[in-house]
Amino acid sequence: MSNTTRVLVTGAGGFIGHHLMAHFKRQGYRVRGVDLKPPEYCPSSADEFELLDLRRWDSCLQATRGIDEVFALAADMGGMGFISNHHAQILYNNSLINLHTLEAARINGVRRYLYTSSACVYPEYKQAEANVVPLKEEDAYPAQPQDAYGWEKLVTERLCAHYREDYGIETRVVRFHNIFGPLGTWDGGREKAPAAMCRKVAIAKLTGNAEIEIWGDGEQTRSFCYIDDCVKGIDLLMRSDFRQPLNLGQDRMVTINQLADMVAAVAGVQISKKHVPGPMGVRGRNSDNTLLRSVLKWEPAVSLEEGLARTYGWIEEQVRERMAEERRPELAARRW
Ligand code: NAD
Repeated sequence: MSNTTRVLVTGAGGFIGHHLMAHFKRQGYRVRGVDLKPPEYCPSSADEFELLDLRRWDSCLQATRGIDEVFALAADMGGMGFISNHHAQILYNNSLINLHTLEAARINGVRRYLYTSSACVYPEYKQAEANVVPLKEEDAYPAQPQDAYGWEKLVTERLCAHYREDYGIETRVVRFHNIFGPLGTWDGGREKAPAAMCRKVAIAKLTGNAEIEIWGDGEQTRSFCYIDDCVKGIDLLMRSDFRQPLNLGQDRMVTINQLADMVAAVAGVQISKKHVPGPMGVRGRNSDNTLLRSVLKWEPAVSLEEGLARTYGWIEEQVRERMAEERRPELAARRW
């Protein structure tokens, strides 16, 4: 990518999109960001930031006009609590966003298009055990994703392949495995496990109530990848000539109970876990990074401990500020 390349990041008001914009700006590129909302936690570094609803065809045409490369991150999404309870909304909104953004990009002569897919495309039957075999890209078929979110991602992966074959637009597809870090949603119902855990532990620390709730028995497993590695991997994949879907994540698997203990250790607080009913997603999931290493000659390097330390510090600050605003921490703790 040269400094004259005009880049569009959709979903630039969201967690990964915001960090990606900042990454491109540090490299000196001209970047347009588009989202329904501006970034929540700090101003965008975009040269242009447009508030557009990408479910709409006219918005997608406007967003992609004059653009060379699209990084398509806009999605109606959240953590397990959100994904497992909003199937119709997710399938409808994300299908419209992705169909319209890719077609508008084609009409406007965009050269390269990176689509952000998810480990949620992998079939349920390969993720039934906590001690799961790491998932290779080819494992996505025969398809049986658990949620509508995964089905929509899979369909858009196919759309990207066909647009490349039929129209020559250079598409790239990345499958993220649980990206986390500062400046991501940490409350409100769309937050993901690492952010939710940091918030719960921060509240335990600041209120002195050591009990934190964990959905299910906490023995479900996942791998977690820090945001700086995610941004680097996206950039490397877009520059590569690799055209098939590629995992982007860490391949160190931990249980949710272990994740809670790690966050508590970072916070320097004792917690007691209360296991409550709640959506757990698949029983086990891990990334097989064999293809990632061979294609990008690189793999995520920030350790989970280091990533959690950086994320926890930011979330504890948010919780402190919120409590200060409410001036009555004991009530705030109960409400959360
Ligand atoms: P996010 O929710 O923080 O960001 C998504 C952004 O898309 C939000 O700011 C939202 O306002 C915007 N958006 C939603 N509907 C829109 C619309 N109609 N028009 C314009 N903008 C709209 O999520 P994120 O974690 O930054 O994820 C970015 C991408 O990566 C998404 O496509 C997501 O599915 C994918 N992904 C993320 C993870 C993860 O762990 N964070 C894992 C797998 C896949």
